Amino acid sequence: MAIDVLVVGAGNAALSAAVAAREQGARRVVVLEKAPRELRGGNTHYSGGLFRFAYDAAEDLRPLVPDVERQVPGFFASVEPYPQARFREDLERVTEGRTDPMLAELLIGRSYDTVRWLARQGVPLEAAVSLSGVKTGATIKFSPGAVIRARGEGVGLSRAWFEIAERRGVEIRYETWAVDLVQDRRGRVTGVVARSPGGLEAIAARAVVLGCGGFESNPEWRARYLGRPWDSAKVRGTRYNTGDGLRMAMAVGALPHGQWTGCHSTPIDADAPPFGDRRLTDKTNRLSYPWGVLVNVAGRRFFDEGEDFQFYTYAKLGGIILGQPRGVAFQIFDAKVASLLEGRYKTGTPIVADSLEDLVGRLPVDRAACRRTLEEYDAALGEGRFDPTALDGLAARGIQPAKSNWAQRLDSSPFVAYAVTGGITFTFGGVRVDEQARVIGPAWAPVPGLYACGEMVGGIFSTNYPGGSGLMSGAVFGRIAGAAAAGHPPTRSASRRRATRRRPS
Ligand SMILES: Cc1cc2nc3c(=O)[nH]c(=O)nc-3n(C[C@H](O)[C@H](O)[C@H](O)COP(=O)(O)OP(=O)(O)OC[C@H]3O[C@@H](n4cnc5c(N)ncnc54)[C@H](O)[C@@H]3O)c2cc1C
Repeated sequence: MAIDVLVVGAGNAALSAAVAAREQGARRVVVLEKAPRELRGGNTHYSGGLFRFAYDAAEDLRPLVPDVERQVPGFFASVEPYPQARFREDLERVTEGRTDPMLAELLIGRSYDTVRWLARQGVPLEAAVSLSGVKTGATIKFSPGAVIRARGEGVGLSRAWFEIAERRGVEIRYETWAVDLVQDRRGRVTGVVARSPGGLEAIAARAVVLGCGGFESNPEWRARYLGRPWDSAKVRGTRYNTGDGLRMAMAVGALPHGQWTGCHSTPIDADAPPFGDRRLTDKTNRLSYPWGVLVNVAGRRFFDEGEDFQFYTYAKLGGIILGQPRGVAFQIFDAKVASLLEGRYKTGTPIVADSLEDLVGRLPVDRAACRRTLEEYDAALGEGRFDPTALDGLAARGIQPAKSNWAQRLDSSPFVAYAVTGGITFTFGGVRVDEQARVIGPAWAPVPGLYACGEMVGGIFSTNYPGGSGLMSGAVFGRIAGAAAAGHPPTRSASRRRATRRRPS
């Protein structure tokens, strides 16, 4: 039987596309996965499984996590609404107004409907307690919009997608990667040339969906587009996202789109391996810096640790750390905030001391400068009440940089320091797609037969990123691409209708 839809890649975006294509009537859907079976699933496997989406009321989450109160008593009373306007405001603020309005509208407007779709497909969901919850007394407060994740995090999400795809009759070919797109004389994409242990073969298909990631794992492209010192960055996830899909698409004229000098990059354990560890996945992340003080090897602060909640600063902080001398920094905490440190810190080995003076003495930094920095910080502290669930305005001002919130004295023993570096997650530059996830070609018209989704879509993120948006974008555009490739694109009015709020049934 001829292949209706050929999907390149096997992460969240690609498998959303494959499943949507089957659901919309494509009879034969084939997925090419570059990785061997035991390393399958792209960055999705390594992710925290968090989905950011818009909802008008906590009750809208009930159909997704009907039993959640068994795990989190009082859940529905503690979750704040996250309407589309708030998601839009967050995306516009962190991207400094550079998000593509059409793509942003699709992402935001279809986010809730798509999470409902994921749940209907059988992706198990749960409250993202360890990622987003802050315990205050008996209740857990969540960061609005970043409340729900796949059960089992990225590992669970990836496993669920493979099971769902297989159940739906999608064929998956491992260790098989697309190296070129094939076009007919009229320019329609009619398949790919693929490579596998058996050699090269041409695979024909009525439509091709590219969901094969960015170029985060390709040091030569990182040097080319992101510049120094990105060629030497550690990769947080898969080693297989080397820009193949972007290269293939641009070779047939796809328009590049978005911030090609930008990427998502976070503070990770300085001793993290060069590529993601299948077992540790995202546990090398070190995101509790708002509760402490961050210094570089010159002993200086260089970032406002309390600029905003970590979900709105962590994705740019990795790059800022990488740009510091030797590409490392130290997160310093005192005992007062020990209970607020994310569970992921347990995978690291901190430097510990009974006094701040001793701690500084053990850090491989300019110690005299570090002592001065901490004294200046101490002298700049304002008055107020520390509240980790709000932008509490407890600031250290008059120093460079200021610490805008959660600025407390480092005065409770023991003191700890964690060495961190910047790890790259994924790249922001991609190809231009339209409302049907069709890849746009040189004459600003779709390249017939070619679709893209996930990290390959350029234009949504720039400079920074609101946590949980990557998987959401992958699912939204993957679902659109798969349906469109199967011949059932969302109509304009349907997109608009779906973009308005739907009450859970
Ligand atoms: C450690 C970590 C934690 C994260 N946590 C979150 C989170 O909690 N929430 C969130 O929203 N985002 C998170 N992200 C980002 C998120 O994982 C990605 O944005 C998302 O998974 C990208 O999905 P994708 O399907 O586009 O790419 P991927 O999941 O990376 O899939 C790409 C696929 O393409 C395959 N491939 C590559 N080249 C070829 C080729 N030539 N032929 C065939 N196959 C090919 C790869 O093997 C892979 O299967 C995290 C990322 C990492 C690394």
